[in-house]
Amino acid sequence: MLKYIFLLLGLILVSTTSQAQNENPKLVVGIVVDQMRYDYLTRFYDKYGEGGFKRMINEGFNCKNNHYNYIPTKTGPGHASIFTGTTPKYHGIIGNDWYDKELLRNVNCVEDNTVEPLGTDSNDGKKSPAYMLVSTFADENRIFTQMKGKTIGISVKHRGAIFAAGHSANAAYWWDYDHDGKGNWISSSFYMESLPEWVNEFNTSGIAQGYFKTWNPLYDINSYEESGTDANRYERVLKGEHQSVFPHKLEELKIENGGFHMVANSPFGNSLTTDFTLKAIEAEQLGKDSITDVLTVSYSSTDKVGHDYGPNSIEVEDTYLRLDLELERLFNALDDKVGKGEYTVFLTSDHGAPHVPSYLEDNKIPSGLFDLNAMLEDLNAFLFETYKVSDLALSRINNQIYLDHKKIEEHNFDLQAMKNVVSRKLLSYKLISNVYITSAINQFPESTGYQEAMLFKGHNQKRSGDVLFIFNTEVFKDSSWNRTGTDHHSGYNYDTHVPLLFFGKGIKHGQTLKRTNITDIAPTMSALLGISFPNASIGDPLDFVID
Ligand code: ZN
Ligand code: ZN
Repeated sequence: MLKYIFLLLGLILVSTTSQAQNENPKLVVGIVVDQMRYDYLTRFYDKYGEGGFKRMINEGFNCKNNHYNYIPTKTGPGHASIFTGTTPKYHGIIGNDWYDKELLRNVNCVEDNTVEPLGTDSNDGKKSPAYMLVSTFADENRIFTQMKGKTIGISVKHRGAIFAAGHSANAAYWWDYDHDGKGNWISSSFYMESLPEWVNEFNTSGIAQGYFKTWNPLYDINSYEESGTDANRYERVLKGEHQSVFPHKLEELKIENGGFHMVANSPFGNSLTTDFTLKAIEAEQLGKDSITDVLTVSYSSTDKVGHDYGPNSIEVEDTYLRLDLELERLFNALDDKVGKGEYTVFLTSDHGAPHVPSYLEDNKIPSGLFDLNAMLEDLNAFLFETYKVSDLALSRINNQIYLDHKKIEEHNFDLQAMKNVVSRKLLSYKLISNVYITSAINQFPESTGYQEAMLFKGHNQKRSGDVLFIFNTEVFKDSSWNRTGTDHHSGYNYDTHVPLLFFGKGIKHGQTLKRTNITDIAPTMSALLGISFPNASIGDPLDFVID
């Protein structure tokens, strides 16, 4: 009898110690799908395979009512917010670019002229997270593990890799497809002295060049019943094509359409991202020991295809069906290399997108395009009439008017009065619904309406402009580039509602329609790992997700 009791005790001891040792996942994988509307999960659901999106839903937790909680919904701010658990007010990334009031020029959210490019000679390599003011959950994991837990960030877009990986990352890698980019995975001296050998090997392997292929739909084109017809007037036409229809022949079109841009702007950019990610998992030995590593992967090509063809296109549907297979390939590799049940994944997006305005117009839904350059000229002409000084408005970037404070001081004008004049003028435009003087945004009480609360969280006192305006629903910037396809920036549901899926170690199976915010993701991952929350996080850990 006594023998059995000892045996039982021994079993309990063994099981509790082994549980304690294996508590944390060996690897956390944060996946961002650039410009993924929530309804891409549901609209294409029947066409997805079992190993990608559906595996996350069937094994993990689906937050069906997950939103951005600030304006503007753009890539740089989106990635920063997912991984820091806070908003532009605190992390400082108020746009992909903004007007710098001291440098008197636009700056890019990841530009850093103090670092050297690696793998390229171009400015595309002079990038770092220097403009991001706060920590990510991966930064906190690095500090918690005495820098033993690794962090690697990967994306075709620099901002998709850099903000996700954070300040203390071992590496962020992005792709040089811009200008005369050579199709290399690159980085900067912010992270390391030179590219590791495995990256150089990948760059000389010809894998990227191999993606100048012909893009045909994955399945019979007549089976894409969830989308519009292939030929329509809502999609951008590539140079060298007469109509925006399949097949899109990348090899033939590449010279006219910016070389490697063609690959980034097709679903093949996502395949290339998986190829590189699988190499990174192997070469960097991610998830090999019991100290949690963090891998971030942002799939950028979904955004580029979305911009070009719009949400209702067969091109977008096909890009998602292909991405589903890329996810399956990634999860299979993680099962193999890290072990089933030994890693934790979340998947979300950096913003959604509206339907193409002309498509909505054809279906009687209010929409429009707004010529921002003409508006700035008009505004300056109007201010000249009143003040007899030219160009008092310097910029209208991110739907914010930056006034020339130097000129205003020189002429002793009343800045506050001028902001009121600008506000009245802006409000007179038919497609503008609201105007805010930004110094007031910072004074909004917590209880203000949803738009005001979103502006409060999106406003950075030091970096934001003087007056901010909001378009009507389904309205965005007019440009020759934007007359077809789509764009995103707003606080409306089509831009804010994005998927949030969790699966793997420590995650419950389930779903919720309770509203969750993008700022909840980072504290949830911190809670799962038992580490400090990112230092400026304002979100809540989603306890119903954690097992
Ligand atoms: Zn984006
Ligand atoms: Zn975009």
